[in-house]
Amino acid sequence: MVRSDRSANSNHNIQWNWCPVDEIIPLALQDITQAEIQSVIDVLQGNRLSRGPQLEAFEEACAKIAGRKYGIAVNSGTSALHLCVKSLGIQDGDEVITTPFSFIATTNCILFERAKPVFVDIDLQTYNITPDAIESAITARTRAILPVEAFGNTIYFDRYEQIARNHGISMIEDSCEAFGGVLGNRNAGSFGDASTFGFYPNKQITTGEGGMIVTDRDDIARSSRSYRNQGYSGGYNPQYERLGYNYRLNEVTAALGYQQVLRLEELLSKRRKVAFAYDSCLGELVDNGFLSLPPMMERERASFFVYVIRIAERFDATDRRRLIEFLGQKGIQCSSYFEAIHLQPHVIAATGYRKGQFPVAEHVAEHTIALPFSPLMTAKQVELVVSSLQQWFSQNG
Ligand SMILES: *Cc1c(COP(=O)(O)O)cnc(C)c1O
Repeated sequence: MVRSDRSANSNHNIQWNWCPVDEIIPLALQDITQAEIQSVIDVLQGNRLSRGPQLEAFEEACAKIAGRKYGIAVNSGTSALHLCVKSLGIQDGDEVITTPFSFIATTNCILFERAKPVFVDIDLQTYNITPDAIESAITARTRAILPVEAFGNTIYFDRYEQIARNHGISMIEDSCEAFGGVLGNRNAGSFGDASTFGFYPNKQITTGEGGMIVTDRDDIARSSRSYRNQGYSGGYNPQYERLGYNYRLNEVTAALGYQQVLRLEELLSKRRKVAFAYDSCLGELVDNGFLSLPPMMERERASFFVYVIRIAERFDATDRRRLIEFLGQKGIQCSSYFEAIHLQPHVIAATGYRKGQFPVAEHVAEHTIALPFSPLMTAKQVELVVSSLQQWFSQNG
């Protein structure tokens, strides 16, 4: 393992360049093979760098993974979410029910269209929004629900879909953390009207930057294709029927994505192996009441995005910061993850939400720590992380 320049995620809390040790255990690390690198070289040596066969192959492969009819590739997961919101016609004054415990893109895509994110709390056992809380948040202005598989956890998605159906509202599944995941006989990415994937370097498959919309709806597929390409409507005379964007994904990126999808099962199983190693090594700390393991259902088929522990309630924000710094000094990159979305300044300005309104999300946001996690992590590295945790808790528990 080399120094932090190969790490996929920069940590927001800590400057890594002062790290006194030689060996860094990075927060995330992409797993890319020689064959994948060659596929990129092949594209660069060919004559199509955009809008070519790699894009189509990547789209088809992702649609298949989700069990959907269409895949529409875009340049990020955020772009994918934005085009789902646009395609459903969500606009100024509409309400969209979503989670306060996610990556900020889940909320930003609603705010892009001046619609109102209506947060409902998550539950402590799953980190996903509580189905009953959605029911009580629905008003005459509710246009859609936008739930997230927190850290890859697919639980409740069948129930969210049923709630949306019962109330005649749309559902966008932010599946950006659950690529390849399942819930019973359903795939992550198959729930609601449209779903999104993201391919940032810490995700289950990566293209550096990239995203995908998957849907069964012809109209959403058509409008997303148009929106990603300036609103182009096709035909001989270029016609732009709507105000669109340049959210296109190039062939170099698509080639890498396609090759990564082909290796999905291997990548997921490597991730599970690391997660299960953490689970068993952390058992003693769990039993002694220092921390909780990540919530994840159907563990044998789970698609792990990150490995996030939650330290016990008695530890506060300062304790957590000190623990993250302690690990950082040993070259172990950790991060507080996620921050509560309703407390971010631009979200407060747009919505007026305040501290205290979503106590579970706030509690979880204040107590979670993402540990180093990647398909390339070794058992020895997992043990080193856990023994360092043990050391800190024995001195500070
Ligand atoms: C990764 C992620 C996205 C997409 O992020 P991009 O960086 O835009 O690709 C969206 N939502 C969630 C919950 C994510 O974790």
